[in-house]
Amino acid sequence: MSELVSTRIRNTAGKLGLPHLTETISEYIRRADEGKMGYLDFLDLVLSEELAVRDDRRFRQGLRLSRLPHHKTLDEYDFSFQSDLDPRKVKDLATLSFVEAKANAALLGPPGVGKTHIAVSLAVAACRAGYSIYFTSLDDMVRNLKAAEAAGRLTNKLGTYLRPSVLVVDEVGYQPLERAEANLVFQVISKRYEKGSIILTSNKTFSEWGQVFGDEVLATAILDRLLHHCEVISINGPSYRLKNRLKAIERENDVA
Ligand code: ADP
Ligand code: MG
Repeated sequence: MSELVSTRIRNTAGKLGLPHLTETISEYIRRADEGKMGYLDFLDLVLSEELAVRDDRRFRQGLRLSRLPHHKTLDEYDFSFQSDLDPRKVKDLATLSFVEAKANAALLGPPGVGKTHIAVSLAVAACRAGYSIYFTSLDDMVRNLKAAEAAGRLTNKLGTYLRPSVLVVDEVGYQPLERAEANLVFQVISKRYEKGSIILTSNKTFSEWGQVFGDEVLATAILDRLLHHCEVISINGPSYRLKNRLKAIERENDVA
């Protein structure tokens, strides 16, 4: 290919916002020559690789903005350790039809059963599928909203929790809230109702939410919006965190 044409293609690709093509054009041409590719196959190769590169870039950018604490996947979750948890229920969620439907998912259970792990893995899957994600603990969200309200910037800060397609609210119920704080949570839940998904984790059953939110009426109003369209998964098994710790302690005791 003449230097002139390849330079022109690089320039055009740059203007079209295809930086990968500007870098890899020679490589594409070499592969086309080697494989004696037809025009259709060649165009298909170039376009599909550009799309894959763009999707991957968007995925990694989405993960950076999501504030997820880690990027664990469902493949890393050992279902055999939680024998009472039906893997199909979790795998159904991973198809993301609840995200498409702007519905919610709740993961309930005691510490260490993998609620955050599963919530994060669903969020990673949603991010890969092109949805925007934001992860927060309930306490951080409340603290940020309170500070914004005190500074007269509540509407602006609410946007952080309303804009993403999927909001992950981790650790509902670890700290009881005051009425004004619970009210801020209600605002987020009711404004997201049927507009965007929430994935939440909690160590409390829904019947205990009255205590968490310090007000039965408010808790009921929150649950009403949250549970109208919600997949609920309860994990009532042993803590994975303690699994290896307990084994190690048993070993130490055996030796002693
Ligand atoms: P929770 O949010 O329920 O307290 P986490 O999701 O934080 O629990 O899980 C605690 C740790 O144990 C994490 O490192 C998580 O990846 C791991 N973990 C929990 N359950 C499993 C499991 N069944 N298979 C593999 N790792 C697990
Ligand atoms: Mg957790």
